[in-house]
Amino acid sequence: MELTRAAQLPVIEYEGLTPEENAELRRGGVLLHSLEQVKAWARSNSLWPLTFGLACCAIEMMGTGASHYDLDRFGIIFRASPRQADVMIVAGTVTKKMAPLLRRLYEQMAEPKWVVSMGVCATAGGPYVRSYSVLKGVDQVVPVDVYIPGCPPSPPALIYGLNLLQEKIRRQARSRQVTGA
Ligand code: SF4
Repeated sequence: MELTRAAQLPVIEYEGLTPEENAELRRGGVLLHSLEQVKAWARSNSLWPLTFGLACCAIEMMGTGASHYDLDRFGIIFRASPRQADVMIVAGTVTKKMAPLLRRLYEQMAEPKWVVSMGVCATAGGPYVRSYSVLKGVDQVVPVDVYIPGCPPSPPALIYGLNLLQEKIRRQARSRQVTGA
């Protein structure tokens, strides 16, 4: 029996590509994309979050980055300087005293940049919602792209949120191409 070229190729599903694009690659064809989409694909697979935690949620974030869950396999590598980071994971309670410093770190980060709100404290004040000193949501000081519920969210929940952010980055590049924005 004669095998076709497509049958000889290993079946690999490339993340971030549509089923039609994956089928085209398996056929041994050529994919044409806009430069924006290629950049978004590269950016979404090399997210560099700022090493930055505020409270107990940060312990879960550290656990997610450690060997068991291994964020490196998604190209997600923590950076110690905001100038080398493009993702801020707000992990913990944001106090009103900390909010201006958080905003300053955000402004020091490289463009394009994204924010993940991890846990109910960062999203809406959490158990401290009635406190005089806690911000009722980090979206009052920085624009948030993905909200992750939980107190604290588990490492798989954080990974899921980061995967959603990757998808969002790719989808925005596609929609920019459609709308011409
Ligand atoms: S959401 Fe829960 S675990 Fe996270 S910082 Fe607030 S109190 Fe701590």
